[in-house]
Amino acid sequence: MAVGEFDLIKRYFDRHKPQQPFNTLGIGDDCALLSIPPDYQLALTTDTMVENVHFFADVNPAWLGHKLLAVNLSDLAAMGAQPFAVTLALTLPRVDEVWLQAFSDGFMSLSSLFQVDLIGGDTTAGPLTLTVQALGLVPKGAALLRSTARAGDLVYVTGPLGNAGLGLKIVQGHTCNRPEQALTSFHLPQPRISQGLALRGVASACIDISDGLAADLGHILEKSGVGASLCWENLPLSAEVQNYVAQTGDWRMPLTAGDDYELCFTVSADSVHKLPANCYCVGQIEAEPGLRITHNGQPESLGVKGFEHFS
Ligand code: ADP
Ligand code: MG
Repeated sequence: MAVGEFDLIKRYFDRHKPQQPFNTLGIGDDCALLSIPPDYQLALTTDTMVENVHFFADVNPAWLGHKLLAVNLSDLAAMGAQPFAVTLALTLPRVDEVWLQAFSDGFMSLSSLFQVDLIGGDTTAGPLTLTVQALGLVPKGAALLRSTARAGDLVYVTGPLGNAGLGLKIVQGHTCNRPEQALTSFHLPQPRISQGLALRGVASACIDISDGLAADLGHILEKSGVGASLCWENLPLSAEVQNYVAQTGDWRMPLTAGDDYELCFTVSADSVHKLPANCYCVGQIEAEPGLRITHNGQPESLGVKGFEHFS
C-alpha cells in the first residue's frame, strides 16, 4: 500500500527526539515550541530549491538533501549564529520511497553532524520544491552583518573559490583530469559554521558566497557604502581551477560562479591576528564605491552580475 502523508513524515523525518535544550517540542503538534535563552537573538533564514532552477531532476537525492540543508546553515554561519533547529517544507510530485530514503538520509546526516534538530515542516503534493527554514542563536549584538565594513579593512575568504563552479561545468560536460574535488564542492558544500562562530567580535562584516565572490562582496560594499580592490593573483584556487583557467582563459569564473559557500568577510588590520586558520586575504576595502580588480597587474572590469531570479 502506498505510504500516506503522516506515515511518510514519521518514517523519514521524525527520526530523532530533539537533542538541543532550546527545542522544547518537535514534530507532531500544530507548532514546534522553542525556548530562546536570555541575552541571545534568534537568527532565522529560509531558502528554497526548485527542480530545474537550483538542481537537475536526476541529481542524487542524498546530495540534494545535504545541499538543501547546507545552504541554509551557510546563511547562519555568515551571521556568526550557532544553528540549533530547522523546519522542512516538501512539495513532492509523488511518493517515491527510494528517493525519500536517500534524500532524508542526506538531510539527516548533515543535521546530526551539526546537532541541528528537525522540529517541523509541511508535506504537500505538487512540483518538486524544497524549502528549509533554519534557526540559530547569537549573543545579543554579536551577529555579523553586511553593513558594517569600513574603508581600510582587509577582505578575506575562508577557502578556495571556483571549485563548485568547476563542478557545475563538469556536470555540464567539461572534462577534467581530477574532477572529484570540484564535484564534491558542487554537490556537497560544507557550511562554515565553526569559522562563522570564530569570526564573532573579529570580522567587521560577513556574507556567505552563494552567487560568486564578485556579487556577494558587492552586497557588503553596497550595504556598507564602501568599495573594494581585489588582486586576482591573491585568490585561493585549487590546482584544477588553475588548470581550467589556463585551458580556457576564463579567469573570471572563480569570481562569478556560484555555490562555493565559503564565507567572505572584512576585518580591520589590528584584528587580523585573531583570525581562524586557513583564511585568505584577497583585497581591501576602500572609501570609493565599486569593485575593482587587477589581473596580471592590469585593471579589469568584471561586468558580470550574480544570479538573479526574474532578470
Ligand atoms: P498541520 O496540518 O497542523 O499543519 P501537518 O499535518 O502539516 O500539521 O504536520 C504534522 C506534523 O508534522 C507537524 O508537527 C509538522 O510540523 C510536521 N511535519 C510535516 N511535514 C514535515 C516534514 N516534511 N518534515 C518535518 N516535519 C514535518
Ligand atoms: Mg501543515
